[in-house]
Amino acid sequence: MLRKTMLTLADSEFVTRTVTKNRLTRDLAFRFVAGESLDDSIAASRNLLESGMTLTLDLLGEHVTDPALAQKAADEYCTILDRIAELGIASTISVKLTMLGLDISDDFARDLMIRILDKAQFHGNFVRIDMEGSAYTQRTLDIFYSLHEIYGDTVGIVLQSYLYRTERDVEDVIERGAKVRLCKGAYAEPETHAYPRKEDVDAAFRRQMERLLDDGIYPAIATQDDAIIDVARGYVMRMGIDKSRFEFQMMYGIRRELQEELVREGYNLRIYVPFGDMWYPYFMRRMGERPANLLFALRNIVQPG
Ligand SMILES: Cc1cc2nc3c(=O)[nH]c(=O)nc-3n(C[C@H](O)[C@H](O)[C@H](O)COP(=O)(O)OP(=O)(O)OC[C@H]3O[C@@H](n4cnc5c(N)ncnc54)[C@H](O)[C@@H]3O)c2cc1C
Repeated sequence: MLRKTMLTLADSEFVTRTVTKNRLTRDLAFRFVAGESLDDSIAASRNLLESGMTLTLDLLGEHVTDPALAQKAADEYCTILDRIAELGIASTISVKLTMLGLDISDDFARDLMIRILDKAQFHGNFVRIDMEGSAYTQRTLDIFYSLHEIYGDTVGIVLQSYLYRTERDVEDVIERGAKVRLCKGAYAEPETHAYPRKEDVDAAFRRQMERLLDDGIYPAIATQDDAIIDVARGYVMRMGIDKSRFEFQMMYGIRRELQEELVREGYNLRIYVPFGDMWYPYFMRRMGERPANLLFALRNIVQPG
């Protein structure tokens, strides 16, 4: 309910303006968003790199329908890949197809993704295609599979455990030998497409995680959920799966102690580092996931600082 409300508010222009201008909500947002510029975000993530974590940089933005803006986003991603190589930092990138104009057409977004993948391949880097709302799932997978045939392990995908279809998609990606990030899913989905109850989503995540740990290619287990992380730790130990065969992924600014604990224990951990000035929808999704964050934000909107 809370999640759905926050996701609806994420579409409101009035709330967008109010939240993005308010100093205290901006401060709160910048606990989850590394900065507005690339260099600020890399500077803010230095301590993560120094403590042995790797990064995936995400230039924030989605649902771009202006072709010039989508092209600009692709150019910016190419610059990010150049900068990562120049600085020699351990970072990949994560890209949303709707930022590259998926709402314009599949071919348009795919062509821009090819430009980014050529650059990534040139630098020996890796591009993860984020997964968005269920209206885009099949189109995103179709584009991904066609690119995976050309670019192989330079490109990976995300699957969301809350969707009923994901059980089947996990088998597909395993069969194709494609790299997957598994997450629970962050969008408001109807019961016709996704499990409405958290227990069912968690159970699906565990099943799919175990399948990917057994037979997937370097799966990424993306969650902040202690219980699931414990299940993963127990499973790999029982099955004798080496820690080098998978990675955990967590978000910038969330559960820092748990992040450090995983690294101390010798697990690979990649931090999802979002940055840029289009941070509002990302921020609202994070608010909806945790009531304590939301109450803090609402107090500051009602009593602006
Ligand atoms: C690296 C990464 C990449 C992702 N990529 C995608 C993607 O491409 N597509 C997509 O749909 N979703 C993506 N997600 C988001 C994901 O689907 C979930 O919405 C999000 O991770 C919250 O679920 P959870 O697994 O942490 O479990 P939850 O059950 O939601 O949370 C477990 C615990 O984690 C902590 N926690 C969770 N969220 C927050 C928060 N916002 N603030 C503070 N504490 C919190 C709390 O302690 C909570 O009890 C990604 C998540 C990660 C970590």
